[in-house]
Amino acid sequence: MKFFRFESIYQREGWLSPAFVGITPTGTIAYMNSKPPTGVAEHTVEKIAGHALAGFVNAHSHAFQYAMAGLAEHHAQAHEADTFWTWREKMYKTALRISPESLEAIATQLYAEMLRHGYTHVAEFHYLHHDEEGKPYKQVGEMAHRLLKASEKAGIRITLLPTWYAQGGFGELPADRQRRFISSSLEEYLQLWHQTNKLASRFNHADVGFCIHSLRAVSEEQLKQLTLLHAQEYPHLPFHIHIAEQQKEVEDCQKYHGKRPLEYLASLTKLTPAYQLVHATHLTHKEVEIIAKSGAQVVLCPSTEANLGDGFFSLQDFQKSGGNWAIGTDSHIGLNPFEELRWLDYGQRLKTHLRKVYQHTQEPDSAKIAYEQAIFSGRRAVGRLDLKNFFEVGKPFDALIIRDDVPLVAQTAPTHRLATILYSSDASWHLGTWVHGQWQILEQQHKHKTTILPQFREATNEIRG
Ligand SMILES: [Zn+2]
Repeated sequence: MKFFRFESIYQREGWLSPAFVGITPTGTIAYMNSKPPTGVAEHTVEKIAGHALAGFVNAHSHAFQYAMAGLAEHHAQAHEADTFWTWREKMYKTALRISPESLEAIATQLYAEMLRHGYTHVAEFHYLHHDEEGKPYKQVGEMAHRLLKASEKAGIRITLLPTWYAQGGFGELPADRQRRFISSSLEEYLQLWHQTNKLASRFNHADVGFCIHSLRAVSEEQLKQLTLLHAQEYPHLPFHIHIAEQQKEVEDCQKYHGKRPLEYLASLTKLTPAYQLVHATHLTHKEVEIIAKSGAQVVLCPSTEANLGDGFFSLQDFQKSGGNWAIGTDSHIGLNPFEELRWLDYGQRLKTHLRKVYQHTQEPDSAKIAYEQAIFSGRRAVGRLDLKNFFEVGKPFDALIIRDDVPLVAQTAPTHRLATILYSSDASWHLGTWVHGQWQILEQQHKHKTTILPQFREATNEIRG
């Protein structure tokens, strides 16, 4: 076992300072105390000049979209309107240009960047399944395998969510440009799912969940089939779905099914804490209450939702009902978890003209409320239900280390340290990131950057032509 001395580590009770942490060769915490371990020579304890925060879970990612981050801001015509739906056409074009090799290269670079920003676990909402013609690869889970390899090389934990996408819109056949996403039947989807599950079991830090792209992407019968199978055989696995991102899809759902999205979903299946409702942007009070009562969570992706002009989430109402929310980076236009929490907060402040929008009956510190939601709901979003504190003896050491020589950090008392980090930091404050007890990033550099970067360059050159 190796011992480390951190300036402090952040726990539910507050900062443990200094923090002596013993980590086993397999990356598990075996000792954690403000006092040094007895019988261990002082010179063998490695000093880390920073404050440790539990690593974030990125609860929503489409890795291939990183290949177009920033490219959709340049418009063909100055006067042309641009919306989520026109952005989606650009995204489809990108999806059609991605090979298994380029997906692996892009995802590896993306996951390395997630780690640099403090994410240590990613939920990959994966729907780019088939080849450029729309035919299944020889190994049907080829693209899933590439994502697993990318996560392994980058050193991030992954919950892979093979996504069922069967139709183009409510009651519509798939469009030709959606051909790489499609599994026409439950049988086809399960073939993909089982193979992905098998592949994931060969990796040390990977698992799987269930996923339906959106209510518009499957028929009512298909939605019933998969939710029933999940309830009967895999109730403990997370189940992700895009729920109500755009006003238009709410209206289309109302027209086709006579119900708003959440009401429709809840009428077909019993929502449970396993359900992760991504982009629950447009909710009525009744829908908020249904979610909160069921224990299902929402996953918010504030920088992408702002970038795509989705709308404001009903945070105030949702918090009052006791609902839980996690964060994700979706299209990866932003990759900093603290920025996601600020975007969410500031959007609400601008809307309500109030400053304290993160609400909790017993907690006056906005940063603590936001951070606890992101960490604990994030873990629930990937089915990690065993952790009650940020760090625990017997559990892996996954952490983001904040430098102690940042002037503002050095001058701030522990009571305000978390808020200073959450509201004022940028990634230059990060000393590094650990996953399963090892530095994956140190001083902004990934341990495998010399091979990750050239492959990323090659892949983006190929895709961008
Ligand atoms: Zn998404």
